Amino acid sequence: MSQCNKSPIKTHSLGYPRIGAKRELKKATEAYWKGDLPLSELLVTGKTLRETNWKKQQAAGLDLIPVNDFSFYDQVLDMSCLLGNVPPRFQWQGGQTDINTAFTIARGTEGGTSWVEDEKDCQTSKVSTFASEMTKWFDTNYHYIVPEFRGDTTFSLSSTKVFDELAEAKELGINAKPVLVGPVTYLSLGKVQGSNNPDFDPLTLLDNLVSVYVEILDKLAAEGAEWIQLDEPIISTDLSNLQREALKVAYDRLSKVQGSAKLLVTTYFGGVRDNLDDYLALPVDALHFDFVRGSEDIDSVLDTFPTNKILSVGIVEGRNVWKNDYDASLEFLKKAKVVVGADRLWVAPSCSLLHSPVTLQNEQKLDDELKSWLAFADEKLTEVTELRQLLDEVGSEEMLETNRAAVASRKSSKRIHNDAVKKRLAGVKPSDFDRASAFVERQTKQRAKLRLPEFPTTTIGSFPQTKEVRLARAQWKKGKLSDADYDQFMKEEIAKCVAFQDEIGIDMPVHGEFERNDMVEYFGENLEGFTFTSTGWVQSFGTRYVKPPIIFGDVSRSKPMTVYWSEYAQSLTDRPMKGMLTGPVTILQWSFVRDDQPRSVTTHQIALAIRDEVVDLEAAGIAAIQIDEPAFREGLPLRRSEWDNYLNWAVKAFHLSACGVEDETQIHTHMCYSEFNDIIDSIAAMDADVITIETSRSNMELLDAFVDFKYPNEIGPGVYDIHSPRVPPTDEMSNLMSKAEAVLPREHLWVNPDCGLKTRQWSEVKPSLINMVETASKLRATN
Ligand code: GLN
Ligand code: ZN
Repeated sequence: MSQCNKSPIKTHSLGYPRIGAKRELKKATEAYWKGDLPLSELLVTGKTLRETNWKKQQAAGLDLIPVNDFSFYDQVLDMSCLLGNVPPRFQWQGGQTDINTAFTIARGTEGGTSWVEDEKDCQTSKVSTFASEMTKWFDTNYHYIVPEFRGDTTFSLSSTKVFDELAEAKELGINAKPVLVGPVTYLSLGKVQGSNNPDFDPLTLLDNLVSVYVEILDKLAAEGAEWIQLDEPIISTDLSNLQREALKVAYDRLSKVQGSAKLLVTTYFGGVRDNLDDYLALPVDALHFDFVRGSEDIDSVLDTFPTNKILSVGIVEGRNVWKNDYDASLEFLKKAKVVVGADRLWVAPSCSLLHSPVTLQNEQKLDDELKSWLAFADEKLTEVTELRQLLDEVGSEEMLETNRAAVASRKSSKRIHNDAVKKRLAGVKPSDFDRASAFVERQTKQRAKLRLPEFPTTTIGSFPQTKEVRLARAQWKKGKLSDADYDQFMKEEIAKCVAFQDEIGIDMPVHGEFERNDMVEYFGENLEGFTFTSTGWVQSFGTRYVKPPIIFGDVSRSKPMTVYWSEYAQSLTDRPMKGMLTGPVTILQWSFVRDDQPRSVTTHQIALAIRDEVVDLEAAGIAAIQIDEPAFREGLPLRRSEWDNYLNWAVKAFHLSACGVEDETQIHTHMCYSEFNDIIDSIAAMDADVITIETSRSNMELLDAFVDFKYPNEIGPGVYDIHSPRVPPTDEMSNLMSKAEAVLPREHLWVNPDCGLKTRQWSEVKPSLINMVETASKLRATN
């Protein structure tokens, strides 16, 4: 560590995980929401976390430490609050927003704590106001609250959060660098709301928006900020001419009125590529590059970097878990040092460490070898400062040697490299990607075998995960429930579930997925090449954190994973049981992925493992198998030019997993949260015999893409929204199905709910499914 470093090279970080090493933020926030913790104590938890995080970064030797990267919910939402951009339906009265304003926007008034005036009868009553939408932050699994814009949106400085946190940090002796979402990214990520002017471009709000940024920057400077960080990750995406112009206009103004604060603009998650000239031309003091995901920028940046700016080098991967390769990083850093000089060089993680688990320190179960390959947020801070020391030639030989040993062990370890897997993938034949016959022929054979009625009914796989089910799984994992008792418990649950489906007349039942805690983790635990952390939580949204599996090595399946349960379920009924698997792209997307081979290779390894399972299910007498790919769309690269390449290997991965079966075996897939329009040809190319999609909340609008494309295979549009406890009446489902029937061939349609029955109670699921089956019989009766 170098607390009293004299190096002209500065180190900094773009942001640090806010959740706490022991998920303190989640616990306190949820307790507050439930009314079990007073606001004052929640605020203290926040303050303590900030102090801990700043001090950790200071102790690690960082020169500039981010402030306002902390949030009780989301940093984009905080930005909306700071700018006074509260959607009118929340009836915010102006003045200052606070933590409750943010919670209300994020959760709606049903879930939140606030009450609003009901204008109609002039009484204070609880009005249900829907929350703002959330969506993925670029290509990460972090979700931000989408800002809403209208033609008449105006902005005004409306929160003290960033100023309060700056004061707090300064008081603690922290060299604080306030962080804000930059104006062009903020406008680009929002959504147009309101009917008076639905086609307007939010970028037209720039002028008024920048005026408020000017005020904010002025005030931060006046309150002692030396540096201010403006995040513009939009620069790592394809920019329109309007966005380019907006960047120029915005930063021209910001650079003129900033008082004494210096501006650092950052971009990350990919290269700036064709946006380089625009980026370099911004009249600011420092520019940050993600040279990990954007390594293609390296040469062009070094060739053209201006002489009047500081270059912030993002070289430690901020959103994956692997240890940095010091030799490789130093090679680049040394070049950069020669080009820009030590006093214009900063070293940093590639992006905010928000996307990284907090610390390896509490990982008791990971073995030493595996641990030696990993770096979470805290370890990444050390990497940043060690790299600086090595660059300054004051780092110890031991530092470098330890790193080299870890990197070398990961490169050659037998635990990572499995020759049989590599050989098998290399030997895959073109015919392995194809079913024997085309869909129409398969459909005929499947009809003969399955003998399903018109409008067959099914579900997406899971059934309610009751307290008892979760407890049994947990007890068994801890060794507190014997294998035999666990087996019996699961079989009883499956039997109840199958009996219920039989009783109400579901044509294609499922076993219920009771043995699965999570649709990716379950498979990860049963596949070689995966490992799991005990505390590697990462914020997904609000108080929802996920603990992604780590894919560290070549993936293979040593034993069947689901056959036992599916076979048992099939033994209980004459109806065709649907086997349930998670697809290779989804397993990849929801894990930390190895960085030593292309994602496509890892995905195809997973696909082969799933293929083995599909073939085994078929051999065990399972006539229909669903391979879920809810994350298929999420995998799309940020740059359009890379979409084709991704879609090509992603579709192939599906084929590889699905095509080992006979024509008679019906392959299903399932997708949700998707817009299908721009990828419909790839979805059709997957050639699943049946696709079920989440549609009920879109009022079947998502079907348009399938209709326009003349989607040739069978399709099950979800007819009820499982996100609500409400039992949908038969009429409502019939209406939805009529809409589908009006535009798609009747003989291609299935009747099913949206996905995720596991999150509901049996008392809600039972009547809903009964109504759904009734809907199907009514449909059959009409023609
Ligand atoms: N088979 C899963 C279920 O029904 C699918 C979940 C999902 O699509 N996210 O819960
Ligand atoms: Zn789904």
